[in-house]
Amino acid sequence: MRKQRALFALVCLLLGAVSAGLLLGQRTREYKSDQFLMDTLVSIRVYGKDADKLREAVAAAYAEMHRIADLADGFPQPGTTAYRISDVCRINEQAGLKPVSADKDVIAMLTLAKKYHSLSEGAFDVTIGPVMDLWGFGRNDPQVPPPGRLGEALALVGSKDLVVNEREQTVFLRKAGMKLDLGAVAKGYATEKAIQALKRHGIEKALIDAGGNIRVLGKSRRDIPWRIGIKDPRKADALTAVLALEDSAAVTSGDYYRYFEAGGKRWHHILDPRTGYPAAENMSVTAVTADAGLADVLSTVFFVLKPEKALELAEKLEGVDLFLVADDGRILHTPGLRGRVEVKAGEGYRHDQGR
Ligand code: ADP
Ligand code: MG
Repeated sequence: MRKQRALFALVCLLLGAVSAGLLLGQRTREYKSDQFLMDTLVSIRVYGKDADKLREAVAAAYAEMHRIADLADGFPQPGTTAYRISDVCRINEQAGLKPVSADKDVIAMLTLAKKYHSLSEGAFDVTIGPVMDLWGFGRNDPQVPPPGRLGEALALVGSKDLVVNEREQTVFLRKAGMKLDLGAVAKGYATEKAIQALKRHGIEKALIDAGGNIRVLGKSRRDIPWRIGIKDPRKADALTAVLALEDSAAVTSGDYYRYFEAGGKRWHHILDPRTGYPAAENMSVTAVTADAGLADVLSTVFFVLKPEKALELAEKLEGVDLFLVADDGRILHTPGLRGRVEVKAGEGYRHDQGR
């Protein structure tokens, strides 16, 4: 009898919990909005109770993303806002001539870029512009550059000649012909700015996906960590891993995202600034850290480095984790991801649990 009563109480308790959950669920709504921005599809999802507030918050987040995209646009079309306000464009035009005043967010992106240029011993370099232009990844006709031209372009690459004056808020490229390319920084930085805008609008739960750059705010709708899929770099619809993420960013750089094939080889868009050719050590790397701007920089840094070097650097950096698929099929990650990453090593991959 006592057992029955206990069971009845338990059932009531469960029913109560479920209906409370349903009620809460009814009040919390999702608002989702997609835009094509920075050459990629950006998707923002926010959760909250007031539909108007959700819409306003997302509009503010997109305004921030557009502002950063415009400031960092290297090839703005005449007549656009970017054409008027792009700092990167003006800095490039004045290369070898004079320092240019820049927005504080451009100064912040370049300061971050210079820091990781030295920490990566040159693997990361935002002055890669002249070499990127030769390959033409953004154009319809990308091609493998002739070695001579590659040598000339490489002579113009080097962040030691990128002078960022934080006090004066100016930027100067010392050599004529030098060119900034913020492709490895701006998307993540803009994502982080968007998250800050959402927070200012009182949003506590959100997910931004900017072409594989993921940043989540808070926990998921069900109050558990978000589950983020890491794509199989060789099988379009398969996943290599699922990552639990909370209030943090996970940014992936891969050789499968933007590439062309020529001479039986795959040529992708993340270059080793020391050779001018695509970095060949990894198929995909995912940098996990709180700030989406830093995560974007780190995803490119780790992609260019050898897997062992990348893991060593990730472990040295406070609050940074790394998941990677090396070019030989090894799947490796920092110890910090143990218990947070579920690896689904498909055919052709080896998951080294030792790490
Ligand atoms: P994705 O654009 O796929 O998110 P990344 O964040 O790794 O990938 O950025 C790649 C872009 O960064 C390239 O398209 C180019 O603009 C720029 N880039 C390429 N190689 C380097 C490098 N070694 N250091 C800094 N920027 C780079
Ligand atoms: Mg990047």
